[in-house]
Amino acid sequence: MKVSEILSTSTKAFPSLEIVPPMRGMTKNELLESIAPFMEFNPKYINVTSHRDEYEYREAADGSFSRHLIRNRISETTVCAAIMERYDIETIPHIICAGTTKEEIESKLDNLEFLGINNIVALRGDSMSSEKRFTPTPGGYSYASELVEGIRKYQGSASYRRSRKGDDDRYFCIGVGAYPEKHFEAPNIETDIANLKRKVDAGADYVITQMFFDNNVYYDFVAKCRAAGINVPIIPGLKPISTFRQVTSLPEAFSLDIPVELTEALKDAKDDREAAYRIGTEWCSMQCKDLIAHGVPAVHFYTMGKSDNIVKILQNCF
Ligand code: FAD
Repeated sequence: MKVSEILSTSTKAFPSLEIVPPMRGMTKNELLESIAPFMEFNPKYINVTSHRDEYEYREAADGSFSRHLIRNRISETTVCAAIMERYDIETIPHIICAGTTKEEIESKLDNLEFLGINNIVALRGDSMSSEKRFTPTPGGYSYASELVEGIRKYQGSASYRRSRKGDDDRYFCIGVGAYPEKHFEAPNIETDIANLKRKVDAGADYVITQMFFDNNVYYDFVAKCRAAGINVPIIPGLKPISTFRQVTSLPEAFSLDIPVELTEALKDAKDDREAAYRIGTEWCSMQCKDLIAHGVPAVHFYTMGKSDNIVKILQNCF
């Protein structure tokens, strides 16, 4: 079922879970066992992130350099197929512009359709670790809005329609990302929201937000989006803090704020790993309960390969 249908028919908030594909070397069974604890909560779908290929330049004895592909993770399509084979659940692969041409994305869409997957999340992705700024791949897309437009166009094209019976440009339900505390490259939140609207106008069906730790930030953001004419569901994204170190690493990685109260509580637990883990879990449970009380349609959890704290939060809130 498409996420848009799930959202329009659900009578109460439900959890969705985002996982990261395993590194090469992990087995299919190990991956499936790692997500088994979530299944008792009957999640309606599982998102699987996508990771761009990186390249390494190696110097040869003669001083010349050659480029080598570094692909450390199993692909999101493979992971989705494995999850669907074991569990009766929808999977949602993320599709990124980074490092990919338009044709490669069309081929990916064909593969997803072959598997019966009709939900995707469309994102730009980030720069390679060797780059300062995001550089579009030649023949690829520069922004997620172009990707959404490209997906709709591809599925509306005459050649696509000829090769399928009765399909249309709405085959895929498309989610996109948003940043309640502003995307780090945007000059201000208003411009960022205007760019979010481009994605919705291009055909996105719903929005998932970056993680945040102060619900008022999310409520203000949703109000601004509505004022800007964005009327699709905006699903809040949450991640429980699990270590003291994340007080600095999360703001660095995701350009977000950690509230003073949470920072102080974690500082007090600096040398007590269990206490830090408990504080992060309790804070996230508190956020989740408050969001549900405010009538959000769903809560999206960034699991980042961890299940114990997420399971505890699901037990507390759903
Ligand atoms: P865009 O919407 O393209 O925006 C990027 C920047 O460009 C913003 O500053 C925006 O304001 C600006 N912008 C947009 N359109 C225009 C325009 N027309 N003109 C000028 N400026 C413009 N990354 C991954 O690599 N893999 C994943 O699986 C993944 N999953 C994610 C899931 C969620 C829910 C979220 C919120 C993020 C995820 N990311 C993922 C991270 C994401 O790829 C990065 O945050 C990336 O930097 C921006 O992606 P975007 O799709 O929001 O980009």
